[in-house]
Amino acid sequence: MNLPPEVTLREVAPRDGFLSLRDFLPTDQKLQIIESLAQAGISHIEATSFVSSKAVPQLRDAADLMARVPRNHINYAAMVPNLTGAQHAIAAKADQLVVLVSATEAHNKKNVRRSIAESLAEFDAIFAVAKENKIPVIGAVAVSFGCPYQGDVPETDVIRIAESYLSRGAISVILADTTGMATPDRVQRMVGQFQDRLPRADIILHFHNNRGTAMANLLSALTAGTTRFDTALGGMGGCPYVPQAAGNLPTEDVVYMLEEMGINTGIDLEAIIRAARLLQKILGYELPGQVMKSGPRDPKLAAGTCGIDQGF
Ligand code: ZN
Repeated sequence: MNLPPEVTLREVAPRDGFLSLRDFLPTDQKLQIIESLAQAGISHIEATSFVSSKAVPQLRDAADLMARVPRNHINYAAMVPNLTGAQHAIAAKADQLVVLVSATEAHNKKNVRRSIAESLAEFDAIFAVAKENKIPVIGAVAVSFGCPYQGDVPETDVIRIAESYLSRGAISVILADTTGMATPDRVQRMVGQFQDRLPRADIILHFHNNRGTAMANLLSALTAGTTRFDTALGGMGGCPYVPQAAGNLPTEDVVYMLEEMGINTGIDLEAIIRAARLLQKILGYELPGQVMKSGPRDPKLAAGTCGIDQGF
């Protein structure tokens, strides 16, 4: 297998995960989780979204949270839906901004009640204010691998949006499988198209596990040469506009698999498992992540944490 020596994970539970909760998680508890992520060696966190607190009350503490995050070595991104959000995020000292448009007109209309062109035009002001303040912008493309309203999404549609992001100065493009419709062959095709048509584009893959294919998709992308992925502690997350959307790839499960395969993530497995268990305890219900239940592979560590499986 042709595998890269290292991979960078961008932790999205504080935004994608906390956004998907029914109730507001108090800021102190969010900070406890972010602190535990920092201790595990996470270097990139999508910390929150500067959205209207009426529309998304779960993230109404965005400015307060950003004022209190542990700064040290971590790069904090904030999602912004409009210029006001971008201004607030910059004032709150976000290190990066993330803007989002859907790959299909139907999903974008449902999500933000605008056409794709209207969304992209609205981002011009965000790119301008970000440039003025020397803050990098990442462009995300929702439903890149399939849309619940349209079905298949042509790779060329995703490439076109990526091109318009890059021409506006975006440093990276996130290809999000918002509804978990990607399969390993589609991922290979998409990554291949990017390598052919936008070979210098820095792409980040964001997989949801609605149909159980997320880890296979990650492996497929990895063998195709992708080294940047979004993951969420415990496998939290889900699109609030997609009924029963499943979570993201669990960070600790991805760290486990990659490190076992000799791929460096810079993240401490035991510490990230502790962080996932803390999150589960705070939320009070079971999360999809598997490695926090089974423990690491090292029998000395596993025995101490979850006991040895007695059955088959
Ligand atoms: Zn997501």
